Amino acid sequence: MAVKFYNTLTRKKQVFKPLKPKSVGLYTCGPTVYNYAHIGNLRTYIFEDILRRVLEYSDYKVRHVMNITDIEDKIIRDAKKAKKLIYEFTEPYEKAFYGDLKKLNIKEAYRYPKATAHIPEMIKIISALLKKELAYKADGSIYFDISKFKKYGRLSGLKKRELKAGARVDNDEYAKENAEDFVLWKVKKAGEPWWRAPFGEGRPGWHIECSAMSMKYLGPTFDIHAGAVDLIFPHHENEIAQSEGATGKKFVNYFIEGEHLLVDGEKMSKSLGNVFNLRDIETRGFDPLAFRYLALTAHYRSKLNFTWKSLEAAQNALDNLREVVKNLKTATQHSNILKNVGMLKKRSMGKFTKYINDDLNAPRALALLWEVVKSQKLDNKTKYNLIVDFDKVFGLNLAESKTEKIPSQILELAKDREKYRKEKNFKKSDEIRKKIESLGWLVEDALSGPKLKRK
Ligand code: AMP
Ligand code: ZN
Repeated sequence: MAVKFYNTLTRKKQVFKPLKPKSVGLYTCGPTVYNYAHIGNLRTYIFEDILRRVLEYSDYKVRHVMNITDIEDKIIRDAKKAKKLIYEFTEPYEKAFYGDLKKLNIKEAYRYPKATAHIPEMIKIISALLKKELAYKADGSIYFDISKFKKYGRLSGLKKRELKAGARVDNDEYAKENAEDFVLWKVKKAGEPWWRAPFGEGRPGWHIECSAMSMKYLGPTFDIHAGAVDLIFPHHENEIAQSEGATGKKFVNYFIEGEHLLVDGEKMSKSLGNVFNLRDIETRGFDPLAFRYLALTAHYRSKLNFTWKSLEAAQNALDNLREVVKNLKTATQHSNILKNVGMLKKRSMGKFTKYINDDLNAPRALALLWEVVKSQKLDNKTKYNLIVDFDKVFGLNLAESKTEKIPSQILELAKDREKYRKEKNFKKSDEIRKKIESLGWLVEDALSGPKLKRK
């Protein structure tokens, strides 16, 4: 069954045709390591992981490259504030980023190239652009001349009259209203890191980083480039201009961009105090995979509104699924009591492939998973096998069906409570129950003894 994606280049859902049979070159824009990744970034990384897993489910071998932006305006600004060298400042955030990916069960990329380790490759592209007169020097910096690149603005749908050729922009991030000649190389400034280049001392702009690193590991033309919608303009637009300008070849066949995550219906921002990261999620007692589950409940091209309530619902759903899988694994019901199981299993698998291959319809596929769980027509073993198979794409580690680890502090409190209960000191045991509740856990007294559950 063919895989279809919405391609920003054509604004259509298209059947995916790889450059080489059964293999895919995938580049995704990675983190700018000046802070911990926030849950919006993480939503995008989860969407990209689903994209990769969907391709792998169809037996494609995916070569995934994700860059680390470790030199950029915000990094320089914040490293200065922290009175640290650039790499001293970025290293802990880079490490934390890999930790986040692991916790979210995001598959490891083939390479995580760093911008500072690819300056020669960037210099080579800029030199080629200067030679072709697609770039020019002004006040010591090098700019890309957008008036010389006919296709400029196609990806983001910019109209000719919106292009302000000749005007220059030095910032790495800017809005559509500033569609101007953008900076490739920034002239050396006091107190900023710099490198030598044939066209002058300085440092790279942000956009050139991704052109250099993607083409180095995937070739001048590759299959898929992904990120979130904010990157369509200017970042991806500029990447196309620089890369195609330098090589004369088509850069990427499919651009796939995911929608943003909002918090309580608003854009995340420091001033609203709603910028959360994975540490915040864990501190409040949630499993990082509950966030992954939540991300799966929305299509990647729809906005996802994050609330703590919705995360709680996702955690409950995930806990229930784990319980189901654990029970299915040990259950001993045989398929011969039910009819047509083989045919029904095949039908479920067909539906699953149809949904995920239709522009990664994860929410529809997740609904199907629950249909399988609740089915009266499938036996336990078949259900279990289907769930494990679907989880290759969902990546929720359902087969491990690990029960949640209860923190030792809670276990200790529960033990004390049990002791007091046995002594019939209900005042004391009640106090401890309240303490446990205030820490986000519930004690239920079942016949087999007290059980701890997340509140
Ligand atoms: P950055 O670290 O800022 O370079 O961003 C890393 C990735 O996260 C990029 O693909 C961004 O487009 C994406 N991103 C930034 N903000 C959000 C958001 N609110 N929701 C989803 N993705 C985002
Ligand atoms: Zn990029």
